[in-house]
Amino acid sequence: MAIGLCLTPEQTELQQTARDFAISEIQPLAQKLDESNDPNLVPWELCKGVFCKGASLGFTSLLLPQELGGQARKCIDFALVQEELGAVDVSIASSYFSLSNVMPLLIGRAGSSEQRDRLLSYVSSSEAFVFSAAESEPNVASSDLFCPTPDAQIGMKTVAVRDGDTYVLNGQKSALVTNAGIADAYFIIARTALDKPMQESMSIFYVGADTPGLTFGKRIEMIGWKASHHAAIHLNNVRVPAQNLIGQEGQAGALLMLLPEVAIGLAASYVGLARAAYEYALNYAKQRVSWGRPLIAHQAVALKLADMMVNTQAARLMVWDAACAADTSPQLAATVKAPAAKTFAVDVAIKNAQTAVEILGGYGVTKEYRAGKFLSDAWIGYSCDFTRDILRLGLVNFM
Ligand SMILES: Cc1cc2nc3c(=O)[nH]c(=O)nc-3n(C[C@H](O)[C@H](O)[C@H](O)COP(=O)(O)OP(=O)(O)OC[C@H]3O[C@@H](n4cnc5c(N)ncnc54)[C@H](O)[C@@H]3O)c2cc1C
Repeated sequence: MAIGLCLTPEQTELQQTARDFAISEIQPLAQKLDESNDPNLVPWELCKGVFCKGASLGFTSLLLPQELGGQARKCIDFALVQEELGAVDVSIASSYFSLSNVMPLLIGRAGSSEQRDRLLSYVSSSEAFVFSAAESEPNVASSDLFCPTPDAQIGMKTVAVRDGDTYVLNGQKSALVTNAGIADAYFIIARTALDKPMQESMSIFYVGADTPGLTFGKRIEMIGWKASHHAAIHLNNVRVPAQNLIGQEGQAGALLMLLPEVAIGLAASYVGLARAAYEYALNYAKQRVSWGRPLIAHQAVALKLADMMVNTQAARLMVWDAACAADTSPQLAATVKAPAAKTFAVDVAIKNAQTAVEILGGYGVTKEYRAGKFLSDAWIGYSCDFTRDILRLGLVNFM
């Protein structure tokens, strides 16, 4: 297999456009949200305008095929954009831009032609359109999804019962669901048979935000990701047309395997965070003087910076490798390369953020400087879209 790691002129231009957009549009917004202490703030209300600008630059439709209104770009192009957005704010990159690129792919890849026409018609409009995907539940360990033992008692309890040409959904999704309460449409995973193991009974439903019976909890505050919106979803006799079932009953697990781009988008955003933490610490180490010399002239600090740079590059290469696999061997990408890249990129982001806190000394733990933000945002990646350990236990099955 030929290996080429040089970006094409088009990719370099895309990367630069994303970098300029992130710095000019996302940075001031993210800073405002980071500094806000208003518990009633709805970040999406502030983010929407910037999201629309990003959409007009094409940053929400990179992957969708051209016949469905997208740009049919390579997954590595998506990774390049996500890294730039993530370097400025990983929550905006992941919650809004990554999900908007990836979730329509589910309809494109698994939907019927009627579903593609009906559910993707928004792509050609200039309206902001945001998705949410809900699997986790408050009283169920999300790790149950990876349980190797088929047992109908284990796993999610949200249920979908067929009633004529509709399904009726009842249950609750956890307060961690990204974009719950602000999304335009939801992919709800529910069980179409509670007497069968989860692996055989999970199904995916497309649910419009205005569907009666669908309500949301209050936005949950996290230690970081200040620009994002997470809330619980309550499903009380939510009736959806049977033609909103994506794929077949019981196919949810297989369909999610069609989307390695979910983990790749997160991983690339976290490479961005790792890079930002490294560059921030490097800049500080060049300015701050100790014993008459810049910090970087002290080997104890210089070695830390070298490790930050080396690990960031290693994480980036894993993401690019997973992105190449997503285009050529999607099964390998979904089972091994994308989860491996996600866990590694988040590990590096956490390590770099922690090292940045160390290099900044006392200022590292003040809100005046960004090292603390990097660390809080980095830790959120640990369990977002499955924990490090669960992803690694999952990929062992394919080694
Ligand atoms: C920022 C963010 C965004 C999110 N967005 C969404 C979303 O959009 N939609 C959605 O549905 N969910 C979402 N989630 C939920 C997320 O998917 C889960 O929180 C995550 O998968 C972990 O599941 P859990 O909290 O149930 O942990 P648990 O499964 O309860 O695990 C707790 C701990 O035990 C470990 N553990 C559990 N079982 C085992 C085992 N068998 N062997 C070894 N170790 C084990 C885990 O690694 C973890 O350390 C989000 C979470 C975050 C933080």
